[in-house]
This record gives sequence, structure tokens and C-alpha cells, in this order.
Amino acid sequence: MTAAPPAVDGLTELAGLLAGGGALVLSGAGLSTDSGIPDYRGATGSLRRHTPMTYQTFTRDPRGRHRYWARSFIGWRQIAEARPNAGHRAVAALQRAGAVADVITQNVDGLHQAGGARGVLELHGGLDRTVCLACGDVASRAALDLRLRAANPGFRPEPTDEVNPDGDVELPEEALDGFVMVDCLACGRGPLKPDVVFFGETVPRDRVDACFALVDDARALLVLGSSLTVMSGYRFVIHAAKRGIPVAIVNSGPTRGDGKASLKVDAPLGVVLPELARRLA
Ligand SMILES: [Zn+2]
Repeated sequence: MTAAPPAVDGLTELAGLLAGGGALVLSGAGLSTDSGIPDYRGATGSLRRHTPMTYQTFTRDPRGRHRYWARSFIGWRQIAEARPNAGHRAVAALQRAGAVADVITQNVDGLHQAGGARGVLELHGGLDRTVCLACGDVASRAALDLRLRAANPGFRPEPTDEVNPDGDVELPEEALDGFVMVDCLACGRGPLKPDVVFFGETVPRDRVDACFALVDDARALLVLGSSLTVMSGYRFVIHAAKRGIPVAIVNSGPTRGDGKASLKVDAPLGVVLPELARRLA
């Protein structure tokens, strides 16, 4: 027996919009915070102290790359152990009910899929796999973890900060020399990169085009848990608004897209999404 949900402004209007079916979800980090994966930005939108890895550092600076993999070796476990929350499960239920057609996510944690959503388009890639920058081979991150464990039996430094959404943690600089990175199994070289879009990296054009096509086909665009600070997601809101496709945003706190939205629900996703699923699924 659960208590009646608190009244949320805009919830009934949102349920009415989604009842028409065929909505496209665009989700961000705010959807995964209830699963223990912190947002880069807090409710105020200010960047956390721990800045994310950039594509330029990763590709041009071998020491920076080594630092990333040492940190990721420690931080990935928290990502791998994260479980989908009520919001992820509600999105999957809304999809099964036809209220939601497709899902684009800016998250790289795989939790939509683990929560039962189908055909999820990962705008920024996924942490569950690696890509070789030399030969292009795509391989499982879990398999890499086994190889890294074998190569680093004694490497257990204490993180000095919480894990980032990309599986990166802060480690003491002196700990990095004790870490051994492994090469690509396909070509024997590398370097390996997580199959995610780093800050400063461009989303592949065909992936962007696939997202625009989904927006064009959508009856509504439903933004979940994103401040829309990054243009890679915000451009779909601009596109939808231009095409006259209704945009609804559910987020705790203001977003860059609020002026383009026909409906804004400023409330926790863990409250709003299960209630939507209860009404529509
Ligand atoms: Zn390779």
C-alpha cells in the first residue's frame, strides 16, 4: 500500500499529451541519479569540481589516457553494479503501452535497456563496450574488465571522490604508475577507448540523423532529466519546436529548453514517471 502521490503541477496535462501515443523520449543524467549515478551538474546546473575527460586529452595525451583507464578500472564497477530505478521501469511500461514509441538517451549507463526499454538509441554511446582507435574493433567492457583484473592483481587505490557518470573516478596521481593497461585483442595495438562520446567529441553524423528522423516521426518530444546544457541533445528540442511538435520537459529545476516547451513539469522523475505509467500503462 503506497501513499497517494503528491499533487504535481502539469501532471494531468502531461498524461493527456502522452495518451495520444507515439511520444519520443530524450533522457539525461537526471533519470539515473536515483540509481546512484551522479549527474555532472547538480540541480543548480553548476559543474562539479571533478571535470570529465575530454576527447582531446584522451586521444593526444598518453598519460591522460592512462589516467582515464586507471580511474575507469575502479569507477566502472559502480556503473556496472547500478540497477534501473522506478523511472527507467516506468519509461519501459509507457513504451509497452504505446504512449512512448522511441527512446533517445544521453546516458551511457545502459539502464534504460536494463529497465526493459526497447530500441534505445544511445546518443553518446555506451560504457558496456570499447572501440579500438587503431582498427575499429568493438569489444565488451566486461571482458576488458576481466583482462584488467588479471593484469592488475594488486591495484586497489582508494578513490578520492565520487564516480562520474562516465565511470571515471578521481585517484591520487602517485597511484597511476601502478596501473597496467592492456592492448586491443583484435590488432594487438590500440589504444582502446570506451565507446562513448567524450566532451569535445562530435556525435557521429549518422547517429544524429537517425535522431532527427525519430523527432520528425514523433507526436511529442518528452525530455526527462536533462538540463539540456549540451547542444547535442538541445538541438532536438529546437528541431521539434520548429516543426510544431509539442515539447514536454520533466526535470527538477530549470532547463535551457524551458522557453521551447509547451509543458514543463518541475518535479522528481521518481514521482512523475511511475504516476504516468500508473495512469497510462
Ligand atoms: Zn585494434
